[in-house]
Amino acid sequence: MTIRQMMKKWIRELSKSTTAKLDVELAMCKVLDVTRLYIHLNLDEEISKKDENRIEALLKQRRKGRPMAYIIGKKEFMGLDFFVKEGVLIPRPDTEVLVEDIIQQAKKIDNPLIVDIGTGSGAISVSLAKYIKDSRIYSLDISDDALEVGAVNAKNNEVEDKITFLKSDVFSALENEDIKFDIIVSNPPYIRRLDIEGLEVDVKNYEPSLALDGGEDGLDFYRKITEDSTKFIKDNGILGYEVGYDQAEDVKKIMIQNGYGDIRILEDLASIQRVVIGTKI
Ligand code: GLN
Repeated sequence: MTIRQMMKKWIRELSKSTTAKLDVELAMCKVLDVTRLYIHLNLDEEISKKDENRIEALLKQRRKGRPMAYIIGKKEFMGLDFFVKEGVLIPRPDTEVLVEDIIQQAKKIDNPLIVDIGTGSGAISVSLAKYIKDSRIYSLDISDDALEVGAVNAKNNEVEDKITFLKSDVFSALENEDIKFDIIVSNPPYIRRLDIEGLEVDVKNYEPSLALDGGEDGLDFYRKITEDSTKFIKDNGILGYEVGYDQAEDVKKIMIQNGYGDIRILEDLASIQRVVIGTKI
């Protein structure tokens, strides 16, 4: 079968996926060890029977709903490659809005000291370490899987010297430390508990509920992190969150109640209020 024929067949087979063509390309890239550009330029190349079988094995997993990032073991975020596996949330493009803004804010700070609460795959921490000169990052997570994957990503992206990974329930690992941060950032679990059942199969059946479940109203972690943050933030320090589609105003209120001001709400590319950022005053 040629690349083109296989592409057509599997785009049909994956009709439930909104990203069928990309899914097929990524499976081919993985097995054939080529780039997507190579696929585009060599559509009439024959695929060996052995490779065809290997590609089909991956795409059959996709047909059941397993996210492509777990199948091929990687996801791109902020132009960097991240290793992912079940047990850590797959980095989302929405989160790039938060990272892009923090990178801009950090330019005004010398040697910024940053903490990322609930670091997961390390997507936020590694990108900040990579793109903010002279930054130092503490990456905290309660999940051992996350800490392990985060460390691999820091190493793969050559920023392991800038990041300290700590097992921590929100700020617990820093409780006895005298440390204050210029920037506190988090994409915490924020899905309302009762809404988890309603998430799409790909998310619900494969991604860790530990990274999704934000308690009854989805705001548990915003309350906890914001309250505890006041012990760990410098004057004029920045607190930045990713939030769920209808949570921006609630999170803004929580921040104001805890002494934050100059609050900005940023939209993602789907025009959803996705990021809330404030300054400690
Ligand atoms: N953006 C994720 C989703 O909608 C949720 C991530 C989170 O809870 N932080 O599936």
